[in-house]
Amino acid sequence: MKYINSLNFATGLDSKDPLKKFRKKFLFPKHKGREALYFTGNSLGLEPASVKKYINAELEDWAKYAVEGHFDARNPWYSYHEMFAAPLAKLMGAKTHEVVAMNQLTVNLHLMMVSFYRPGKKRYKIICESNAFPSDQYALQTHVQSHGLSPDKALIEIGPRKGENLVRKEDILKAIEDNADELALVIIGGVNYLTGQLMDMPAITKAAHKVGAYAAFDLAHAAGNIELKLHDWDIDFAVWCTYKYMNSGPGAVAGAFIHEKHTKNQKLPRFAGWWGYDKKTRFQMNRNFEPMKTAEGWQLSNAPIFSMAAHKASLDVFMEAGGMQPLCKKSKVLTGYLEFIIGELNRKIKDKKIKLEIITPTDPSQRGCQLSIIAHGMGRDFYNTLTKSGVFCDWRNPNVVRLAPVPLYNSFEDVWRFGQTVEQALKLK
Ligand SMILES: *Cc1c(COP(=O)(O)O)cnc(C)c1O
Repeated sequence: MKYINSLNFATGLDSKDPLKKFRKKFLFPKHKGREALYFTGNSLGLEPASVKKYINAELEDWAKYAVEGHFDARNPWYSYHEMFAAPLAKLMGAKTHEVVAMNQLTVNLHLMMVSFYRPGKKRYKIICESNAFPSDQYALQTHVQSHGLSPDKALIEIGPRKGENLVRKEDILKAIEDNADELALVIIGGVNYLTGQLMDMPAITKAAHKVGAYAAFDLAHAAGNIELKLHDWDIDFAVWCTYKYMNSGPGAVAGAFIHEKHTKNQKLPRFAGWWGYDKKTRFQMNRNFEPMKTAEGWQLSNAPIFSMAAHKASLDVFMEAGGMQPLCKKSKVLTGYLEFIIGELNRKIKDKKIKLEIITPTDPSQRGCQLSIIAHGMGRDFYNTLTKSGVFCDWRNPNVVRLAPVPLYNSFEDVWRFGQTVEQALKLK
């Protein structure tokens, strides 16, 4: 598409946007009396306006039914989590029995590692990213240590080459080949949190399986952002949080995917709790654990209903929007527009020392909606300037500003206004 840096052009795209009515379903923070420019859906998605109603319904049912609410509430709490199977399957490209909403992301990562990282004398290595999110790093390190192994030996971290910002696929594939006989698991962020780079998950999975290792992905920045086909890609397990692009609220209940070839295997080691027990016989309180043959077999505790009510409100919005396909269609154009506007800013910046470098891949098939910028010559001042001007974005050490125009609630006008705001702040006009 040929983009134009004008309000008319932006509002023209908005008026033709089939998803435009969804903006009104979200609550925007204000800056000087008007809706702020919110580009931080990669960190905390906006609150769906319907969340209050969903949570209130549970508060009412708690008051009305008390303990009987487990079975008598409008959405009985006993089976509440089952309502997520269909929408999560659709959004994650999974079968309904391969997904479950439970716990938190890092908790789920640990639970999955218990089942899928069983180091032996020979196979004990894990391939991961050197620029992974710290929580994942800590989880992997301590997990390796819990097996009496040294992270220095067991963790093979793949990072960008010297002088580059992105991880090359061929470097991951080569590391898999090089460690073929010792490799137990490959675990990578589906979309890197810092650079916004989308990894080739099918290719990495195929390569891992070829050498006899498991392939897993952290989808914190992929869930609700890109189209996923976890089942068809044959991924062994995946975990994600839901407060980022999934708009389910701070610390909301997270999710996990376990491929059906594993869910049926009741012998797979795991850390168990009563909520993973076969539903039909759960209340017989038998001594020996018999897991469900679905992803639910990894649940530990009964469901956090209030957090799940917000998750439900949000997933209902995703379903109404038609899932990831229409969202990604808009996302590509919207993020492309932001990329264009940043190019316009660079054209107008006269100070030779200052340049806004986008480190996210230019190829739309290698990214979601986030663009990561290094503001050469400005660094953190650029982020501070944006924040003061009413732009919500975030800063990640050592030098990255992340901006994510989200197709569900951001408009082309938002992106155009962003350009205008920066022009004013940097006195480019
Ligand atoms: C956001 C994020 C987390 C956060 O972990 P929680 O357990 O939800 O606190 C972990 N890993 C990655 C890659 C993330 O982007």
